[in-house]
Amino acid sequence: MHIIDNRADLTAQVQGWRSAGERIAFVPTMGALHDGHLSLVDLAKTHGQRVIVSIFVNPTQFAPHEDFDSYPRTAEADCEKLRGRGVDAVYFPQEDEIYQDGRKSPVQPSDAAQGLETAFRPHFFEGVVNIVWRLFDHVKPDAAIFGEKDFQQLQVIRQMVEAHSLPIEIIGAPIARDTHGLALSSRNAYLSPDDLHIARQLNKILFAVRDGDMTLEDAPDALLKVGFDKIDYVDQRWGRTLAAAWLGKTRLIDNVGT
Ligand code: AMP
Repeated sequence: MHIIDNRADLTAQVQGWRSAGERIAFVPTMGALHDGHLSLVDLAKTHGQRVIVSIFVNPTQFAPHEDFDSYPRTAEADCEKLRGRGVDAVYFPQEDEIYQDGRKSPVQPSDAAQGLETAFRPHFFEGVVNIVWRLFDHVKPDAAIFGEKDFQQLQVIRQMVEAHSLPIEIIGAPIARDTHGLALSSRNAYLSPDDLHIARQLNKILFAVRDGDMTLEDAPDALLKVGFDKIDYVDQRWGRTLAAAWLGKTRLIDNVGT
C-alpha cells in the first residue's frame, strides 16, 4: 500500500494506473477508521481496480466551537486497517496544498443542503463541498463512495457532481451498525459506557417510527426519555427518517429508510 503525502506523488501514481487502463475508486474520510469506513472500501473495490482512501480532518467543516482539535487522529492504526483491506493508496493531503489558494469554497452547496443539518450547523455543507471538490481535483477518481450514514451529505455531493457535470460516479454505501444497531461513527469513541447504552436507543426509535409503532412527533420526547440531552431534529425526507441528537458534548446522527 502506497502512503502518499503530497499532490505530485498522488498525481504520478494515479496517472500510472490510469494509463494502464485501471479505474480509480476513491473513499474520502477523516480517519479514526472503523468498520463503517472499511465497508466503503469493500464497496469501492467493486467499482474500480484501484482504491484510494484519503484521511484529512477538514478544518472548514468544523465551526470554531466544534470538536476539530479533539477529533480522534489515529493515522498508524488507520493505515494498518487499510493495508489489511487491500487498499492501494492512502492519501494524507497537506493542508497548504489543499487550501493553496485560501479556504474560500470554489463551489456552493445545493438545494439538498437546505434544512436538517444546516439548521444546526450552518457552516457544514459549505465545508463539505469545499473539501470534496478539492479532493476530487487532486485524486480525479472515476468513482467515489459516500456513506448513507450522512444521508443529506450524500445528496449534496450527488447534486454538486450533477450540477458541474463532473465525470465521477457517486456511490452510496449502506449504514454499518454494531450488534445493537448503533450506526458506527468515529465520534462513538467519545461515549462512556452509560452513554453508549443510551446511544443504542437512537436507531431503535427511528426504526419504531419507520414501522409505524411511534409517530414522528413523539420521537423527540422518546429520545429525551431514554437519556438524550438535546434533540436537533427528527424529520423525514428522501424516503428516510433522519435524526440528530446530543449526548453530553457528543452529537450523533442516524437515519433509516421509511
Ligand atoms: P467520516 O470519516 O466520518 O467523514 O466518514 C467518511 C465516510 O464514511 C463518509 O462517507 C461517511 O458517510 C462514511 N461513514 C461513516 N460512518 C459510516 C457508517 N457507520 N456506515 C456507512 N458509512 C459510514
